Amino acid sequence: MRLLWTGPSVLDGSPVFVAATDGSHNRKTGPMVQVWILRADVHPFQAVRTGQDVAICGDCALRGVNGGQGRSCYVPVQHAPAAVYRAFQAQQYDDQRTMTACFYRQTVRIGAYGDPAAVPWWFWFDRLSHAVGWTAYTHQWRTAGDTFRSFCMASVESEADAREAHRAGWRTFRVRGPLSPVASGEIVCPASEEAGHQTTCARCRLCNGMSRPSGRRGDRRPDIVILAHRTPIAFARQTQRSLFADATAVVDSALPAATP
Ligand code: SF4
Repeated sequence: MRLLWTGPSVLDGSPVFVAATDGSHNRKTGPMVQVWILRADVHPFQAVRTGQDVAICGDCALRGVNGGQGRSCYVPVQHAPAAVYRAFQAQQYDDQRTMTACFYRQTVRIGAYGDPAAVPWWFWFDRLSHAVGWTAYTHQWRTAGDTFRSFCMASVESEADAREAHRAGWRTFRVRGPLSPVASGEIVCPASEEAGHQTTCARCRLCNGMSRPSGRRGDRRPDIVILAHRTPIAFARQTQRSLFADATAVVDSALPAATP
C-alpha cells in the first residue's frame, strides 16, 4: 500500500488519508491503481455505524441514515477498506506523500471507496497530471465546484438529478433501476454486464469528467448509465430511490410557481 496524502477532510475537517493499492484484478475496471479515501481516526465500519463517514462520503444518499440504516453503497467496508485502514494504522505503507509523480504512467481509479471531493482539488490536479488516465466520480457535484467537474463525473441515481447536473455543466454517471430507460445523450457502460463486458475502465476511461473547462458545451462525449447490480435489497432501495426522485421532479414541475 502507498500513502499519498493525509489532512483534514474538505467536507467536515475530520482527519482523512488517501492511499493507493496496486495490482487490482477487478473484472470491470481492469488493471487500475485503486485509490482509497478513508478516515484516519475511525475504523471504516465504525464510521458507517456512527455517521462519521460523512467526512469521506459527504451527503451521498447511498450511505443510508442513522448509522447506515438503508445503506445501499456497493462497497462492503468490512473488506478492502478495513484492510487499508489496518495497514494505515500499523504504518505498513510506502510513504509517497511528497511524490507528485506517484501515478506516473499509471491508470487510476479514484475513490474505490470515498469521495474525491473530501480531498483538496489541487492534490488531484498535481497527481493526475502524471497519470495515463483515470476514472473519478463524486456525489458532491452540487457543492464541489468547477475544478472537480473537470476530472470527475457527477454520480446520480435519477433522471431528475442527471438533468440538474447537466444544467450545472457536469457529465453524469447514472445508476438506473430496471424501469428507468437509457436517456438521450447516455450510453450504457461498455464494461457492464448488460453491455456484455466489451471492455474495461482501464481501456475505456470515458468516466474522467470534462475534457474542456467550458463544461458540457466543449465536451460532446456521452453520459454513462448502468443498471444497479448490487444485492437484492440494495437493488430494491436503489429502484425505489430513483422512482421517488423522478416522481418528485414531475410533481414539482406540474405545480404552479409559488407566489410571495
Ligand atoms: S463508461 Fe468506461 S470508464 Fe466509465 S465505468 Fe464504463 S467502462 Fe469504466
